[in-house]
Amino acid sequence: MSVFSRPDPAARGVGMTSQRARDRLVERLAGEGIRDRRVLDVMRTLPRHQFIDEALASRAYEDTALPIGKSQTISQPFVVARMTEALIEHRLPQRVLEIGTGSGYQCAVLSLLVEQMFTVERIDELLRNARRRFRKLGLDNIRSRHDDGRLGWSDEAPFDAIIVTAAGAALESALLSQLAPQGCLVAPVGPTGRQTLMRVRAGDDGWLEENLGAVSFVPLRGGTE
Ligand code: SAH
Repeated sequence: MSVFSRPDPAARGVGMTSQRARDRLVERLAGEGIRDRRVLDVMRTLPRHQFIDEALASRAYEDTALPIGKSQTISQPFVVARMTEALIEHRLPQRVLEIGTGSGYQCAVLSLLVEQMFTVERIDELLRNARRRFRKLGLDNIRSRHDDGRLGWSDEAPFDAIIVTAAGAALESALLSQLAPQGCLVAPVGPTGRQTLMRVRAGDDGWLEENLGAVSFVPLRGGTE
C-alpha cells in the first residue's frame, strides 16, 4: 500500500515538484530528533500540500501549523512526526483510531504505516474535504465518521492505538475504555497555552502515563456541526 501504487497523474505531477521541499523538511525533522525511519519515509512520500488550500500550498513544507478553515489547523509536521513515532514505538498497531480528522494529513501518514485507520471529525465540511483527499491519493484503508469523537467509535472498538489531535481538559475515559490490552493512546491534554502531550499505555497494574512535552493544539469540543 503506497501513495505511488495508485498514482493520480495530477497528484504525481505536483508531488514531483515538491520532492526536494519534502526531502528538506524530513532532514530538518531528523535533525530535531525524529529517529523512526518508517515515519520519516512516509513523510518524505506523502504530499502535504494536497491537504491544504492551494493558496497556502507554497508553505506546505515549512515546519508550521497552517489554517484549514473553520478556525482549525493542520498540525505542524514535527508534531505529526513525534505523535506518530510515539504511537508506534513499542509495537506497530494494526487498528488505529484518530479523533480530529481535520485536513486528514495525520490520518494519511498513519494509514501508510498500519493496517486499518478509523478517524472521527465533528465538522462535516472538514471531513468531506479530507475524504476527497484520501480518495484522490488512493488511501483505501481509512474509514471515517462524522461525530463527536470524545465518545470514540464503540462499534469498531477495541483499537490497538488511539491518537487524539485536539486538546481536552483531561484524558477521555470513553477512549481509554476502547483500547485493546497493551494498547497505546497519545493525546494533548490541558488548557490553551498549557498543554502537554501525554502517552498512556495499559500496564499490568493500571495505566502507565508519560509526559512527552509541551504542545499547542486547538481545543477538543463537544457536539457536531
Ligand atoms: N489531525 C488533523 C489536526 C486537525 S486540528 C490534521 O492532521 O490536520 C483538530 C481537529 O479536531 C479539528 O478539525 C477539529 O474540528 C477536530 N475536533 C475537535 N473536537 C472534536 C471532537 N470532539 N470530535 C471529533 N473531532 C474534533
